[in-house]
Amino acid sequence: MDRVECVVVGAGIVGLACARALALAGREVVILEAEGAIGMHTSSRNSEVIHAGIYYPAGSLKARSCVAGNRLLYEYCVERGVAHARCGKLIVAADASQAHELGKIQARAHANGATDVVRMTREQACALEPALSCTAALFSPSTGIIDSHALMLAYLGDAEARGAVLALRSRLERALARAGGFELRVAGAEPIECRILVNSAGLRSPGVARAIDGYPVAMAPRELYAKGNYYTLAGRAPFSRLVYPVPEPGGLGVHVTLDLAGRVLEPHEMGAGAAFLHTLLDPNIAFLFFWLGLALVALELFVPGGVMGAVGTLMLLLSVVALGMLPVELLGVVLLIASVVFFVLEIKHPGIGLPTVGGVVTLVMGGLFLFDPSVPSARVSLWVIAPVAFFAAAFSTWVLRAALRVFKAAPALTPGDVVGEEGVAMTELDPSGVVQVASEEWTAEAASGPIESRTRVRVIRKEGLRLTVEPVKRKAGRRPR
Ligand SMILES: Cc1cc2nc3c(=O)[nH]c(=O)nc-3n(C[C@H](O)[C@H](O)[C@H](O)COP(=O)(O)OP(=O)(O)OC[C@H]3O[C@@H](n4cnc5c(N)ncnc54)[C@H](O)[C@@H]3O)c2cc1C
Repeated sequence: MDRVECVVVGAGIVGLACARALALAGREVVILEAEGAIGMHTSSRNSEVIHAGIYYPAGSLKARSCVAGNRLLYEYCVERGVAHARCGKLIVAADASQAHELGKIQARAHANGATDVVRMTREQACALEPALSCTAALFSPSTGIIDSHALMLAYLGDAEARGAVLALRSRLERALARAGGFELRVAGAEPIECRILVNSAGLRSPGVARAIDGYPVAMAPRELYAKGNYYTLAGRAPFSRLVYPVPEPGGLGVHVTLDLAGRVLEPHEMGAGAAFLHTLLDPNIAFLFFWLGLALVALELFVPGGVMGAVGTLMLLLSVVALGMLPVELLGVVLLIASVVFFVLEIKHPGIGLPTVGGVVTLVMGGLFLFDPSVPSARVSLWVIAPVAFFAAAFSTWVLRAALRVFKAAPALTPGDVVGEEGVAMTELDPSGVVQVASEEWTAEAASGPIESRTRVRVIRKEGLRLTVEPVKRKAGRRPR
């Protein structure tokens, strides 16, 4: 089996930068790339902005790397002749409340080390960009744009000059973690061994992590995909700097970027579909949809009507989409299904309330164990679980009490009374169906031949709770009622 020191999985901007750094450090490097060329995924489908480190939480690794990386990247571009432009970026406020937000953004940028971010009045901003409409703005002179493909080629060139090897059409399929390194299965190639494995497979990185035997699965983040769209302005660019709104929750908002040819690109980060999926992926919503969907479908089976079943099925389908993308634990799912079974049992066969207790316990446990506990963001809140458990218990108790009331009430007829009584067929009796006699519904069988629904019938026999009936024959000349 071939053995190399380092294997980098993925030839996007991150993999190539890692390969370059390892090769410059004198290590033997092989880059495995699934596609037929470098940078075919996210690295060639982005805004090509050199960020300045404005928004990240102060002190975070992202903030520190972005601010330091901004300076290093400009230096590298100059040194290696990578096309770029330090065009600057405006963050604009559309009204007074957003103007207040600008102050917070500027304070965060300064705390991160992006100290060149300055506040501008409407007039100052419009002096820079006359087509702008705003009440105030921040200006970041260190934000710029870059030819990302040229950057990747430069990284690859540096790595190859130090002996790194790029293997295209080489998808890593499995890896086995073992003492001192990894054994790698690469599509269409002999297995290889390496001491250092860099997982830089971009959006596929979680899948690659899960394909490493011996790697703790819980450490691999779950994929949460959202599709965005870019729009290109056909006419002349109205701006010469990047223009961003005050950020919205979950994104930077619809902004305008430029490429090096001066074209205007307007990235839309999240469509309505993606926003809905985002909401659905809230663990609380996924839990509610799953449990309510199950409960409604189960009730539909006992009390057919159609609406509950349709709504329940829709909720269940949506929850399955959400659960498929969240770190679900089978134990939680089983407990939630058990809770529905318990509640339905109580409703269907009222007893002394034990199934309700079982339903509450399994519902609460199911909610708590529904998601992998090592992923803190995937927890279902007790504030959601508790009311659901309370209402489910209250509902089944109410049904239980109502059933007990009916049970204790004096029957309209003593069992023997029904023989000889008249009633009406609620369904067709072919040979059996349901009849209503003295306001109560009974399972009944036609004595001879089928009886149509709505026909008046007379009880001729009673065995247990089952009646035998015959159609009531009207005397000639008398109109049926
Ligand atoms: C819409 C959008 C706009 C963005 N704008 C900016 C911006 O303006 N500025 C900025 O700095 N960042 C921006 N980003 C982020 C930036 O583009 C990404 O962080 C970066 O490109 C990620 O690079 P990567 O190498 O990790 O992933 P990728 O570029 O996706 O590379 C991963 C590579 O791994 C390969 N691969 C996958 N699985 C395997 C396997 N099993 N075996 C072998 N190879 C495999 C793939 O083929 C691919 O080539 C943007 C991102 C998006 C989505």
